[in-house]
Amino acid sequence: MEDFITLKEEKESQFEKPKYLKLLPYVPVRVRVLDKMPYMAYKHYIPSASISVLCLGEECPICQRNTELIKNNPGVKYMNIKGLIPRQERYLVNVLNRTPVKVTSAGSIVYPNLEGEFPTSAESESLVGIEAKPLNQVEVLERGYELFSNLQILHKTTRNAANELVGLTNFDIVLIYPGGKKSPQANATAFMDEVNVPPESMYTLSAMGIQLTSAEMLKALSGVRLKDIFAARRESDTISDAEKTLEDASADVKSSVADIFATSYDEE
Ligand SMILES: [Zn+2]
Repeated sequence: MEDFITLKEEKESQFEKPKYLKLLPYVPVRVRVLDKMPYMAYKHYIPSASISVLCLGEECPICQRNTELIKNNPGVKYMNIKGLIPRQERYLVNVLNRTPVKVTSAGSIVYPNLEGEFPTSAESESLVGIEAKPLNQVEVLERGYELFSNLQILHKTTRNAANELVGLTNFDIVLIYPGGKKSPQANATAFMDEVNVPPESMYTLSAMGIQLTSAEMLKALSGVRLKDIFAARRESDTISDAEKTLEDASADVKSSVADIFATSYDEE
């Protein structure tokens, strides 16, 4: 039977939709870091709208509000001030996900467990006859300082059989996420083969993230959903302006602390 009404597919947003690396508790994921340096962006998590948005720097209404709140709460510890929305340091890097996975006929990706074993079936389909193959997909790894300083240690300590430092982009790492608010742990592997990923298959990290204007940020703070904010944008036909804002502001949040990974292993 044909549909009663054809629903128009709603355009979610004009932003590049990247594939973010997903980490499930105790599911090891093997990746190769592709960028020589991570990109750093400041973000705010707005609980009323359940979204993370890029900080607007000097123009940021959330930062301005935080300053006010701190002023009005003398002696109260930063993290205990009600309504304060801290600015978080987020690091982003392109990775090649090389985890051996099984793919069902419907296209679902099944990861092995900590012991490297696969379930015998998924979505009522037997996985026994399906061969596990590396996923080989470019994804964006975004996390905070904790994981990225862990990566920095691997970058500065991992050596090959000839006892030479190889650098983070030249060996695979395995990420294990313990669940909850804990940071994933990264461990070096002995896989040091050469990986060639064309630059055009990588994401432009400076264009990632949700960029709102300060007026839109205030809307989100008052509980307006992102979907409605974007709908209003389309109605007022300000998309091209909004895109311009996106470019300008992402240049502003460019890493000022990009010294992470900065040590050249060639010089050591
Ligand atoms: Zn801010």
